[in-house]
Amino acid sequence: MLDLSEPDRNDHTGSGAVGDKAATTAFHARSGPECLGALSSSDDGLTPEEATRRLAEYGPNRPPQHKRTPVLLRFLAHFNNVLMYVLMASAVTTAVLGHSTDAAVIAAVVLANAIIGFIQEGRAEKAMASIGKMLAPHAAVIRGGERLTLDSAEIVPGDIVLLDAGDRVPADIRLLEAHGVQAQEAVLTGESVPVEKGEEASAENAALAERYGVAFGGTLVTSGQAKGVVFATGHRTEIGKISRMMHDVETMTTPLIRQMNGFSTWLTILALLLAALLVVFGVMVRGEPFIEMFMAAVSIAVAAIPEGLPAILTITMAVGVQAMAKRNAIVRRLPAIETLGSVSVICTDKTGTLTRNEMVVRSVVARAGSWEVEGEGYAPEGEIRAEGTGSIEVLHAIAAVSERCNDACLAEEGGGWSVGGDPMEGALLAFARKANPDEAPKTERKGLIPFDARHRFMATLDRAGDDSVVSVKGAPEAIGAFCRTQIGAEGAEEPFDETFWKDEIDRLSASGQRVLGFASRQAAAEEGDLTPDTLGHELVFLGIVGLIDPPRPEAIEAVAACIEAGIDVKMITGDHRGTAAAIGRQIGLASVDRVLTGQDLDELDDAALSHAAFETDIFARTSPEHKLRLVRALKAQGLTVAMTGDGVNDAPAVKLADAGIAMGIKGSEATIEVADIVLADDNFASIAAAVREGRTVYDNIKKVLAWLLPTDAAEVAIVSLAVLLGTALPITPLQILWVNLVTAVTLGIALAFEPTEENTMHRPPRPADQPIFDGRLAWHVVVVTVVFVAGIYGIFTYGLRLGYDLPVARTMALNALVAFEIAALFYVRNIYGTSFTWKAVRGTRVIWLTVFLTAAGQLAVTYIPSLQSIFGTAAVPVREGLIILGLGVIVLILLETEKQLRFAVTGAGQRRSQEQNRGARPTTAPQRPLDRGQRRLLLPPK
Ligand code: ADP
Ligand code: MG
Repeated sequence: MLDLSEPDRNDHTGSGAVGDKAATTAFHARSGPECLGALSSSDDGLTPEEATRRLAEYGPNRPPQHKRTPVLLRFLAHFNNVLMYVLMASAVTTAVLGHSTDAAVIAAVVLANAIIGFIQEGRAEKAMASIGKMLAPHAAVIRGGERLTLDSAEIVPGDIVLLDAGDRVPADIRLLEAHGVQAQEAVLTGESVPVEKGEEASAENAALAERYGVAFGGTLVTSGQAKGVVFATGHRTEIGKISRMMHDVETMTTPLIRQMNGFSTWLTILALLLAALLVVFGVMVRGEPFIEMFMAAVSIAVAAIPEGLPAILTITMAVGVQAMAKRNAIVRRLPAIETLGSVSVICTDKTGTLTRNEMVVRSVVARAGSWEVEGEGYAPEGEIRAEGTGSIEVLHAIAAVSERCNDACLAEEGGGWSVGGDPMEGALLAFARKANPDEAPKTERKGLIPFDARHRFMATLDRAGDDSVVSVKGAPEAIGAFCRTQIGAEGAEEPFDETFWKDEIDRLSASGQRVLGFASRQAAAEEGDLTPDTLGHELVFLGIVGLIDPPRPEAIEAVAACIEAGIDVKMITGDHRGTAAAIGRQIGLASVDRVLTGQDLDELDDAALSHAAFETDIFARTSPEHKLRLVRALKAQGLTVAMTGDGVNDAPAVKLADAGIAMGIKGSEATIEVADIVLADDNFASIAAAVREGRTVYDNIKKVLAWLLPTDAAEVAIVSLAVLLGTALPITPLQILWVNLVTAVTLGIALAFEPTEENTMHRPPRPADQPIFDGRLAWHVVVVTVVFVAGIYGIFTYGLRLGYDLPVARTMALNALVAFEIAALFYVRNIYGTSFTWKAVRGTRVIWLTVFLTAAGQLAVTYIPSLQSIFGTAAVPVREGLIILGLGVIVLILLETEKQLRFAVTGAGQRRSQEQNRGARPTTAPQRPLDRGQRRLLLPPK
């Protein structure tokens, strides 16, 4: 067994022995190869068997976890709100006043409510946790000579780990090879500026911040590329020792939920005031007995407080989170659900998001001639046809650069070829094998400048035998800037011909091909690692390669859907403007004639940019910094901005966006960590789906309010009226408790599961600051309340007139209230459409399930003697029962007619909100939606 205990930091004679007990030096003070030996590992990594054994020995590599609140405390927390206090106080008072049955029922309801809340919270949390698991960090590891992507938890000491810019370091790692590596170690050392990392050992007594050769678990690689060996995992890492949390656990709350909770508290206080006033009025003015007035006050409090609301909201959110996960959008921060529903512009990457990121090299152009490359996918099979009299040497030279300047690998499995690493590099490998079917001579990499979205090229220094060669590939302009010469038509070097290449690049990119430039040079044997300064020295331009990457068909549909939904789609890419314009056209972006490049953006000041950003849909040759400026500019226009990102440098823009979206597959850990949403499939269509779900969740919350509030208001009105008029209560306090805590919660939950309404994506986005409780909702509450009160008072009076006892008349009123609630449920399901369709009546399974449960509960309360004695109910004759049902249908028809009339008068709900939308826009912004012709007029002169 390996002894991995590090020596005590202050005790340099300590027993830091690893492997052989004689070696007492800590890993940071030893050379890379020594560490490899001490950990019994090699450049090929551990064998899978050894890795399994070590995993069993050292346990999973997990960051420290938050301690969970004990179950009992979490349960008790459900008693900790004003409603519960009111109810418990009423129970005690009722008991003291000698109404033991009432007291017992109230107590039972309190308990049941807490249990339901507790169970539902648990389920919602479990749902969130399972989604969190989908985001478990991964790491690239070499085992048995093969490159694998593993769950970070599976990493063991001795594993060889590959690190890239943007990676979160999975464990404590001694670097064996590092190229331009910088790490942000703030979590550990508090130092916020990235520090350089390399291969060299440091002094044994070096402080953590000075251990140059170690990448610490939990820190972030901000640039470069490295390879290293793991020497400590889990709680043995430095971060594990201080047990500092790296992520905060998300709670099930959002601004909207908080707004609602505030609203509930406010309602509660109002209800208590009203109840107190009524008690005083009843006792002083009407001379009623205190105990009866007290019970009336309790029922008002119970009626007015929206008990079910928090539970229903939490479930609505959880349902939304799960619906999004099903559509490959993983929610990292709950408020994003609300934000997504109001998104008015989506800024998206091109490669892999709008396109498939399945690349194939199609054309090669050199000064000496051009070639068409055949073949599909990553299979290294296909003919290369020369057009004209191409000198084959230069083709081979380009193929050789493709092969060397490459970190991808191809694998054949089950008849198909797949790529490990960057798909574009995979395509270049396939091309290289097509051009040069013989195995390339074995080379050894001596130096590297990794690809970075800011400089847009990659370079390697390789040694093959006695020769050293520098290979460069990347954006042609980036490489052309280094080259003073090129390989000419005859195969000899000649001056670099910029116009020739520019025309060829335009020609290839106009068809949507991604164009890559290639260059190389001989290197002196003593040349060490590459730097941008030494790179350009006598670099010779070889030619360009065109790769195709077709648009995703579903992205085309999704872009159309977004435009229909009033959402602007903007493409922001590092690619060439020609390629970007061609893909933009294929994808169906709204404005494709104008492309702004990063350079154009640099020339605009913030005000001009703000306009230009609004008018333009295609941005090419941008750097991550431009994304940040664009988010700022668009937000300044009052838009709700969704922004995608993948690389480490995209993190600030993703963070600043209203809805930051990271790529789950090709995205860096750095971007994923700041994102609100992560796309499991990197697909633009998933963004559109998430927006749709976001709108649905918001609508459903609105529906919950539109349904719950009138019921509560009607109950309050009925009890208040009875006290004011001095008549008997049509519904008793316990009955109201029953309706609010049993019926309302059961029926209300159905709304959490409501599917998307048909016109959801035909409406313009809702302004982010639009209050959920608007004039329309207030009007709706008033109308429904009036209808409810009239109906319930009507049936109660009707029952008494027919000569029934008070309990029978009350039971009729109670059942009428529930029938009306069901009617309102069907009405509210279609706030933007009509409920008079077969589809609306057919409802959903959840709706009918809750209706049947509620109906069963009502039958039980009405006809089972033991329940009758508790709730003071009595059997309702069948004829009266049918009348109540009929009344329910009439209420639905009444409400629906009012809605349709209102739509007819004010214009459909749709158009109305468009106006609201426009009204909400800041006056500095051009009014939207504009047609494209108008847009053009607003462009600053070019
Ligand atoms: P995109 O917005 O399409 O994802 P990137 O930022 O990934 O664009 O790439 C921008 C440009 O950088 C590409 O057009 C290409 O010229 C160059 N490039 C991309 N990946 C690599 C790579 N692995 N090696 C060299 N150059 C690259
Ligand atoms: Mg990219």
